[in-house]
Amino acid sequence: LQREEANYFGAGPAFLPTDVLRQAAYDLFNFENANLGIGEISHRSKTAMKVIDDTKANFKELLNIPDTHEVFFMQGGGTGAFSSVAYNLMANYAKRTGKKGKAAYAVTGGWSKKAAEEAQRLGFDVDIVANGKANNFTSIPPYSEWKAIDADNTAYLYVCDNETVHGNEFNSIPGPEYLPEGVELVADTSSNILSKKVDVSKYGLIVAGAQKNVGLAGLTIYIIKKSLLEQASDDELRALNIPLSPIALSFPVVVANNSAYNTIPIFTCHILRLVTQKLIEDGGIEKKQEQNEYKAKILYEALEKYPSLYKLPVEKNSRSHMNVVFTLPSEDLESAFLAGAAERDLTGLKGHRSVGGMRASIYNAVAIESVEKLVAFVIEFAEKNQ
Ligand code: PLP
Repeated sequence: LQREEANYFGAGPAFLPTDVLRQAAYDLFNFENANLGIGEISHRSKTAMKVIDDTKANFKELLNIPDTHEVFFMQGGGTGAFSSVAYNLMANYAKRTGKKGKAAYAVTGGWSKKAAEEAQRLGFDVDIVANGKANNFTSIPPYSEWKAIDADNTAYLYVCDNETVHGNEFNSIPGPEYLPEGVELVADTSSNILSKKVDVSKYGLIVAGAQKNVGLAGLTIYIIKKSLLEQASDDELRALNIPLSPIALSFPVVVANNSAYNTIPIFTCHILRLVTQKLIEDGGIEKKQEQNEYKAKILYEALEKYPSLYKLPVEKNSRSHMNVVFTLPSEDLESAFLAGAAERDLTGLKGHRSVGGMRASIYNAVAIESVEKLVAFVIEFAEKNQ
């Protein structure tokens, strides 16, 4: 199996390492010489369990996940997590306090906005503690400007660590000066998981759809503080008027069944295993973070050199290392940019339909060489058109 190495900057599903896909393609056909493909085996077989366990172990190793936390996988994508987070953390809060709690959401872009709306739609009380909408999500407001959290009634604070569409990313997490004790920090890291080091101990829950930085669509990664798996009983929840989670999204049920309560997309999990294995072999997160920072630096610097042509809407200290958003002065110039890029085999650069412009997604699997090619084109195009 051969393919040319693409210079693909699509926002997701994202480009994956070619050697991983080659191995996975073979394994889909015949896994470990069993004459059966990985997608054809029972999800409760020893073979499937090993795939799940290895993948979990890789996450634990890469992120240095402490024993206080558990890794599990579910279907439903990032959007499924908007619902699962609310159901499960509220059921845990009811267990902890005997009360129906509320949730604090920082709305810093389209995805956190959707997450907050979903929690509300399901019948939970939501406090929007920060909202970047007034400035089109071009910066993440400093914690000093966020509304204080109602410490006596709030189960969790939800943030989207990297807003894939608007191109902003948190450069620090809320510490004790903002986040009251007992309010759990929840982060959607769908578009930057395993792109940088994180201190997992600071989080109640880290969630990520796999399909951008680490794998294929079909699985969502959850890293949860084990104590949050305790939940009020269904009867207690009904008595408190708290909506019950669908069983397939119930964290304790999924964890008790090693992520295979219902049929896990094991091929997707296998890809996750191969990607994380490769990441470990290639030097781990520190190395990857270094590369990602370098890629983002050279691209932003090239764009900044030509301010009359390229506009970078996101403020410097909120800029994403994964999704570099920029615009050109006219639709004609944007079309010419995309056409010129395509001629040089630089693809996937069109911005999200809701914000327009350009977006270069430079996820883990995008090679430094690909970003260097893009940088060369950014400069060449500017020299001709500024
Ligand atoms: N959260 C973030 C940060 C995303 O980028 C996306 C998808 O792009 C989602 C959530 C939704 O993910 P899904 O399409 O898996 O539901």
